[in-house]
Amino acid sequence: AKHGHRRVWMADDFQAHMPERKRDSHKGDHGHGLVIGGNAEMPGSVAMTTTAALRSGAGLITAATTRDVIPVIAAHCMEATYRTLAATDGFLNNETSIPFDAYDAVVMGMGMGRRPETGKLVERVIDEAACPLIMDADALHHLKPVLHKLIQRTHPVVLTPHPGEMAMLLDVPVRDLLQSPFSYMAAFAENYQVYVILKGMFTIITAPDGSQLVSTAGNQGLAKGGSGDVLSGIASAMIMQSQQLPEALANACFVQGQAAELLTDDTHSVYDLMASDVIAGITDVYRTWI
Ligand code: AMP
Ligand code: MG
Repeated sequence: AKHGHRRVWMADDFQAHMPERKRDSHKGDHGHGLVIGGNAEMPGSVAMTTTAALRSGAGLITAATTRDVIPVIAAHCMEATYRTLAATDGFLNNETSIPFDAYDAVVMGMGMGRRPETGKLVERVIDEAACPLIMDADALHHLKPVLHKLIQRTHPVVLTPHPGEMAMLLDVPVRDLLQSPFSYMAAFAENYQVYVILKGMFTIITAPDGSQLVSTAGNQGLAKGGSGDVLSGIASAMIMQSQQLPEALANACFVQGQAAELLTDDTHSVYDLMASDVIAGITDVYRTWI
């Protein structure tokens, strides 16, 4: 696989790359993920990422967020553990140390807000997280001024922008990006040596070598707040379970998209589908395709 190499990720690809869950496995075999995000006005975002990661098969998930947000998440997700991070006016700052050695993947950005003190935290995580790092939403805004840091990392970085966020990182109009998404994404991923999931009706997964996988799974029921939070949670769980990139990322897109499709075939419509339904629908995907 290399620059210019492209293919569509199908159900049989998912089946071929979803690792077996061994009868004698224990939670340590399925990874301990850290989710960093949230503020008092967006408590649900971290809850959705955390729950989606656990529902996708992660061994353990710790949600690192502000003191106010923890009880909100805990009410929805009894299986997660928590780490309180210091905040200024309800937004995360860089004052709490984080034992990065303890984690197999970090996912950061959902509901974080765009305060400068939160940006300092994002920079530190980029510098210090010695494991795969997924950056979404507000973390992408904080990343913009420190993009050069990405090539200094030894462990993989995965960015999960929607077209608006990607156009912001590229400094081009969204219209231009969407006219030639494959070439923009290949150039960016090669430049910064990152994996990028460009989300949309079709989702393009680009590897640092410029090779690309395309996911056509999903439907307009996903066009709603929270869908991106769910995808990043699933992606963290897939990375921890298979360690094989970019296949793990394509599997994550498949799981999210198929969940939406199965749900809108059976019990929901594309109007009423909500991100929390998609999390519950991961069950249907696993039961149908594994
Ligand atoms: P975000 O904009 O960050 O909430 O992410 C939206 C998520 O929903 C991404 O995974 C998109 O691929 C998915 N999505 C949104 N709209 C559609 C659509 N019309 N068809 C398929 N997937 C969609
Ligand atoms: Mg988003």
